[in-house]
Parts: sequence; C-alpha cells; structure tokens
Amino acid sequence: GVMTKTQVDLLEGYEGKCVLTKKQMEGIIEDFLARMEEGLEREEQQLKMLPSFVEKMPCGKEEGEFLAIDLGGTNSRVVRLALKGGQVREMVAHEDPIPKELMVGTTKELFDFIARQVKTFLGKHNTLAQSGQGKGGKIPIGFCFSYPMKQTGLANGEIVNWNKGFDIKDTFGKDLVELLEGSLSEYKIQGKVFAMVNDTVGTLAAHKFIDQDTQLGVILGTGSNAAYIEGKRRITKLQGGETKREEDKMIVNIEWGNFKSSRLPYLEEDREVDERTPNKGKQHFEKMISGMYLGEMVRLACLRASAEGNLFGGSQKDKLQQAWTFPTSLVSRIDGLGPEKLDQVKKELSAALDIPRAEITHGCARFVSRLCQLVGDRSAALAATGVTAIYRYLMQSKQVSPNQRFVVAVDGGLFEHYPRYPERMQQTFISLLGKEQAKRVELVHSPDGSGIGTAVIAAATAR
Ligand code: ADP
Ligand code: MG
Repeated sequence: GVMTKTQVDLLEGYEGKCVLTKKQMEGIIEDFLARMEEGLEREEQQLKMLPSFVEKMPCGKEEGEFLAIDLGGTNSRVVRLALKGGQVREMVAHEDPIPKELMVGTTKELFDFIARQVKTFLGKHNTLAQSGQGKGGKIPIGFCFSYPMKQTGLANGEIVNWNKGFDIKDTFGKDLVELLEGSLSEYKIQGKVFAMVNDTVGTLAAHKFIDQDTQLGVILGTGSNAAYIEGKRRITKLQGGETKREEDKMIVNIEWGNFKSSRLPYLEEDREVDERTPNKGKQHFEKMISGMYLGEMVRLACLRASAEGNLFGGSQKDKLQQAWTFPTSLVSRIDGLGPEKLDQVKKELSAALDIPRAEITHGCARFVSRLCQLVGDRSAALAATGVTAIYRYLMQSKQVSPNQRFVVAVDGGLFEHYPRYPERMQQTFISLLGKEQAKRVELVHSPDGSGIGTAVIAAATAR
C-alpha cells in the first residue's frame, strides 16, 4: 500500500509548484499591482478594472423592499428582501441550477429562463407587487450579473466577455438591463431594474451596509474575482458617463480572474484545463483558484498518475477519462478527510470513479489525498496573494490608513464549503504581512452578499 516511485515523483513536482514561497508571492503581487495601474489608465487591459458607477457608498440607512436577481456561474437566485434600520429583513430566496444547455444557447433563452424563475418565485412569495414601490407600481429590482460588463451608468451595461463555461454568442452589444426587463415583461412581470452590479460589487456593498470598514468584496465560487473602493481621480480612463460630481469614490470591479503572470506556478495540468474551456487563454488566475476548475485539475493529475505511475492500477480509467467528471466538492471532501482517514478517501473515490474498492490501494488514496490538499492550498494562497496586492495598493495610495480595519467580504461556494479555506488564506497573510498586520485583514463570509448588495445599491438609487 505505498505509492509507486513515479507517484512520489509526480507529487514532488506538484509540491514544488503548488507550495508558494514568500518571494514568489511578492513577485506575483508586483505584477498584479502593475496590471492594476494599467487597467485604471486604459481600456482593454489584462485587468479590466471596470467602473461600476456605484459612487454612493452604502451607509446602513438604505431602506426598501427589493427583488434581487443573481445570475451566477452555476446557480441563478431570486431573493426578496427588505432593508430597514440598517438590517436585512424578511429575506426569502430561491435558487435554481442554470441548465447547462442554456450556458451555450441564445441570450433570449437565458433571460427567459430567469424571467420564468422570477414568475414562479413571485407566484409563491408575491408581496412586492402590491407594495407599489418604485416607478408606476413596478417591482424594484437589483440585477446581479457575475460577468464582466461595460457600463456607462448604474442601470445599463453590455457584456465584455463570457467566462465560467458560458459561451453565448448573441449577447454582445446588447443592453443587459433591457434584455432582462424585456423578458420579464413578456412574462407579464412589471419590474424596473434600478441597478445592475457585478457580484463582487454586490458583496462589497452588502457588507459595507453593516460594517463601514469593509474594503473589499471577493468571490470564491464557480469563478473568482474582487472589487474595491477607488478614488475616482485615480480611474484616469473614466471620462464622461453618468458620474456624479459630488462623489469622489467609485467601486471598481477588478476582474482579477484574467490576471496572468510568468511568476504564477503554472502546471501542465493548468494548460490542459485551459484547453477544455471555451475561453482558452483567458482567465488564467481564475482557472487556478475557483471551484469550476479545481476538480478538473485533480482529475487530469490523476489521469497522468494513472497512465505514468499506475494509479488505480493503471486501469479502470473510463470515468476518469471524461472531462469535468471530478467535482470540486469531491476535492473538498477528500481534502477535508486529511491524511489519516484513507479508508474513507477510498470509499469516496470508489463511488465517484466507479472503481472497485479493492483496486484502490492505500498508496493511491494517499496520492489523491495529498494532491487535493496541494490544489486547495494553491487556490487559497493565490486568492490571498490577490487580496494582499489590493491591501498594499490601498495602503500605498493612502486610501486606507494603517490603523484601520481591513474587512474583506467574501461570497461563494468554494469559500463557504472548502475545508479550512479562510485559515489557509490567513496563513498567507501572515507570511506576507507578518503576524501583526495580518490580524487587520478580517475575512468575513457574506452569505448572499451578491444579492443583498445589489438591493442595497438599488435602494440608494431608488430613493
Ligand atoms: P455561482 O454564484 O457562480 O453560481 P456559488 O457561489 O453558488 O457560485 O458556488 C458554486 C460553486 O461552489 C460550485 O461551482 C463549486 O465549484 C463550488 N462548490 C460547491 N460545493 C462545494 C464544496 N462542497 N466544496 C468546495 N467547493 C464547492
Ligand atoms: Mg455568485
């Protein structure tokens, strides 16, 4: 039940790459900061640094009843909520998985799917329609759209590109708010979209509503991305548009998923994961971090170990050979079991890969267990490196003072479910910032942040 020589060698290779040294992470930060500056200056840079047109920062006094529609990478959610007295009240949410075929279908099919979902939701929880809030008794809506969009105001925007497995050709050049309102009205839902925000922006806003020291919104779910509060004069590419003279700040959606650097610990498996996506060559950073890709990464490494190092007896590769069959939740469970409970790891693998238990040796289980741990560690270390880069940026530009709390609101299934993910990130903060400073970085899970924040922003606008 020991690992084969090749398996040991393969693991050493992964270890050498996935365990990041402080020096490597500092190099990544240096590149990240350079890309941020470029993105603030010019359009169409590697980091898109997208202006969100959210200029009035949430203060906790926002009020009203809203419907938040949150289109994610895996799920679509409808949330009805009321904001009052600095609290989120009466929250009712309904989530549906987005059918796979709609991710590569037509724009109209996707928006009609959302409209049907809203229709069903309102059939069950319809109090908003009677509340008569918003213009002409229409239901006030906040739309959370977790893809990059080019906006010239809070309630408009066109898609820049799809990612996370979505590949819909006829969305480009169309206003997303018009598309949503159009589909809603076809389904006889009288709604008005007051704000359309990216999920990172929503997460930041939702937490700022309850904690003024929130500096960052981060998504660690199907995809990965972050948003922060920027001084408007520093967004030098920002000219025209519907900006408010009286405000001097704006939330910027970094679109950090597309970050790329020769200093990133890039494996052969990363290249292979990339090959299997519709957005080949894009979203480098995201593909090393987020939930959509970690399982596929582990599958490819197992496939290699099977072919080269006799993993799973080198046979029974049928299930393992199918792309996207190794879910990140499995990586998560195996990692969570740790290096001791190898019998349970065997059980997980046997069930997931249709391999008889007897054919999974102790050595195999140990290999996969360590592999999952490495992939999880690398994800958390890179996410934390990204957060540290923005922390440094905000300190250096004196936009956050050194004695202020640095609260980071995080939403997404990976952060929520992956074992010890926050602790792993914290380890990286300690390594990069030292124990004392690292304490100032507070990672907070902001459940439903995307949807709530969209409502908070819509509330500030609707007033
Ligand atoms: P989105 O908003 O993009 O739809 P979510 O925030 O709902 O995404 O997160 C869903 C993602 O979270 C899944 O795609 C998966 O990658 C990840 N995920 C779900 N369950 C787990 C788990 N148990 N462990 C780790 N990651 C998970
Ligand atoms: Mg989401």
